[in-house]
Amino acid sequence: MSHHLTAQLQAQGHRMTPQRAVILRILEQANVHLTPADIFQQASRSLPGLTEPTVYRTLNFLASQGLALVAHTGSGQFVYEAAGRNHHHLICRACGVSLEVDHAALQPLYRQLEAQTGFQIDSIHITFFGYCPACQKLLPG
Ligand SMILES: [Zn+2]
Ligand SMILES: [Zn+2]
Repeated sequence: MSHHLTAQLQAQGHRMTPQRAVILRILEQANVHLTPADIFQQASRSLPGLTEPTVYRTLNFLASQGLALVAHTGSGQFVYEAAGRNHHHLICRACGVSLEVDHAALQPLYRQLEAQTGFQIDSIHITFFGYCPACQKLLPG
């Protein structure tokens, strides 16, 4: 469990409970997005008696505190990962392959949109859908 996250939670006026610590550690150690079911399965090993609603509630809490990122992957389900690196995703609709894009690549577009609209954009985890190079070759036409 990284100390800075515990400190961050405390600074925001919250306690680091065992559930929060275990779920954060699972998110930090995974280098893929995890579904709430994956997280429930892994967390149950160290927290016997953990229930799925608690996992959902904890994930919501961690996301609301900026410690976890939530992503929509097109499977109709939300997936989670640890916050920390600002990035986006490209996901192939055909084979599901996913590519990570550093936020720096989109920064100029954000600035331009903000200048044009006056919005302050805080979405730092966007999923772009499309077709990967391999699948484009297989598409008709
Ligand atoms: Zn992500
Ligand atoms: Zn593909």
